[in-house]
Amino acid sequence: MKLVVIGGVAGGATAAARARRLSEDAEIVVFERGEYISFANCGLPYYIGEVIKDRDNLLVTTADAFNARYHIDIRLFTEVAGIDRKAKKVTVKNHQTGETYTETYDKIILSPGAEPVRPPFPGVEADNIFNLRNIPDTDRIKAYVDQHKPKSAVVVGGGFIGLEMAENLVFRDVQTTIIEKMEQVMPSMDYEMAGLMHAHLKEKGVGLILGDGIEAFEKNNGRMIVRTEKGETLECDMAILSIGVKPENRLAREAGLEIGDLGGVKVASTMQTSDPNIFAVGDAVEVTDFLAGHATTTPLAGPANKQGRIAADNVMGRRSIFRGTLGTSVVKIFEQTVASTGANEKMLRCYDIPHVASYSHSGSHASYYPGAQMMAVKLLISPSTGKILGAQIVGGEGVDKRIDVLATAIHGSMTVFQLEELELAYAPPFSSAKDPVNIAGFVGANLLKGDARKINWNEFSALDPEKDVLIDLRNKDELEETGEIEGALHIPLNELRDNLHKLDKSKRYIPFCAVGLRGYVAYRILAQQGFDALNLSGGYKTFLGAKEKIMRESPYTPIWRGE
Ligand SMILES: Cc1cc2nc3c(=O)[nH]c(=O)nc-3n(C[C@H](O)[C@H](O)[C@H](O)COP(=O)(O)OP(=O)(O)OC[C@H]3O[C@@H](n4cnc5c(N)ncnc54)[C@H](O)[C@@H]3O)c2cc1C
Repeated sequence: MKLVVIGGVAGGATAAARARRLSEDAEIVVFERGEYISFANCGLPYYIGEVIKDRDNLLVTTADAFNARYHIDIRLFTEVAGIDRKAKKVTVKNHQTGETYTETYDKIILSPGAEPVRPPFPGVEADNIFNLRNIPDTDRIKAYVDQHKPKSAVVVGGGFIGLEMAENLVFRDVQTTIIEKMEQVMPSMDYEMAGLMHAHLKEKGVGLILGDGIEAFEKNNGRMIVRTEKGETLECDMAILSIGVKPENRLAREAGLEIGDLGGVKVASTMQTSDPNIFAVGDAVEVTDFLAGHATTTPLAGPANKQGRIAADNVMGRRSIFRGTLGTSVVKIFEQTVASTGANEKMLRCYDIPHVASYSHSGSHASYYPGAQMMAVKLLISPSTGKILGAQIVGGEGVDKRIDVLATAIHGSMTVFQLEELELAYAPPFSSAKDPVNIAGFVGANLLKGDARKINWNEFSALDPEKDVLIDLRNKDELEETGEIEGALHIPLNELRDNLHKLDKSKRYIPFCAVGLRGYVAYRILAQQGFDALNLSGGYKTFLGAKEKIMRESPYTPIWRGE
């Protein structure tokens, strides 16, 4: 068996190592176009920001070390230029020597990754406009920051690479503005959850231009002028393009392999392409969405590594399958951790999949133990089965652990009722006796069981000010601190029972508090007294996340403080 692996980083290096572990006899050759195998793509922004100080730490292993352990023939600076499927040969070019030669194969595992999208904006070829994909890109950006000491930068695109770059440029004292075409950053999150990120970014001094794109880059007196489609003009010293990536499919396309509608190489669950001797993995492929079953691309390291292992299994005669992707991801933005798994509401709407959105806010650990941080949790639940379809969390400490529990729950097809039952580790420094995952389960299960009726922030525009009455249950100091909603009655929860006689049964009441818990208690009081009521899910905090949209669309005007 002679296995040729094309691309020697996340998916390719994993596939090669797994193949060797399964077969001591196989001949394994890895072709890597660049200088490094198995480098830490995910660590690159942090080296630019000098959080990772030593460049060598980005090199997870070297070709020599990999070869010593796995006895794999690694050819660096060597690009596979073509695949002759009939003759079962690849043509390769050594970029150092200029030599071109062919190499036979029995099986190929393709893991060429994805390339950054670089639209042909006028002026985009300027040498202070960068993409970030690999170590040479990183060296270029870091050298520019070190030598030119830029005062300001524009990051185009608010996905996770853009956000990480914005953070790390701020660490280097570069005043940074993100320009994002959507009306929110982090497309995997829903609008109101991304709103919590917008607030944090602004707090950290990052400029945000949302719902606007790049028109052109120009030069003026040595500085860069960025013109946006909506007519904004920004002056800066450098720009990072992080608009997204597209599967690197040239080799596969030219070899006549089937390519999907999203541009990724089409693969079966075994990672086999339309040619039984060629497998493909990682950012270059289209896989199945775990929940909805449609084709999708997931340019993330976890799926690439797993698929590499699965492809190697199948190449070496073991049956192993990839059951689909949940797109589980996590990103750190200054002191905030943002994570998601499974479907978001935008996707469920797009595919017309019935769902209930439920919000909860919990402390990362017991409130009496120092340092607890709040996290906002959004669950998307199937109303008919109670199955969890997706989850999003924005907070600080402990967000990563909760999203992983929820990803596991989705992978195991668990319901929101099972989340209520999960027995999770607890001691005050780590969690609460009711973990945030349990709380999210209680809140979601209450909705499905009919113990609570709710209204979400995005249903506010349908409220009728003549009929619907908001009741703010928070204490006066909370209103003063964070703002209020104009027109709401103010009745702190503990005074609600004494004020019921003032309420009118022909109205519908919408009690709300800071995060939804007091709102739920008030709902239970009102409902049991025969009032028509709805709790504002996620309370004022979730409402705040969506404030721009609410202000545009709703008959109720929030009165914001501190702005
Ligand atoms: C800055 C950055 C930060 C990231 N952060 C995260 C993160 O925090 N979490 C996460 O899950 N994911 C992250 N990712 C994404 C993750 O790195 C990728 O999903 C993963 O590396 C994909 O693996 P892959 O094997 O498909 O491609 P890659 O790891 O990109 O490897 C592809 C390799 O193939 C080589 N190649 C391409 N064509 C040829 C050819 N014809 N011949 C020879 N060699 C070829 C390329 O040179 C490249 O080195 C990040 C990516 C970047 C760029």
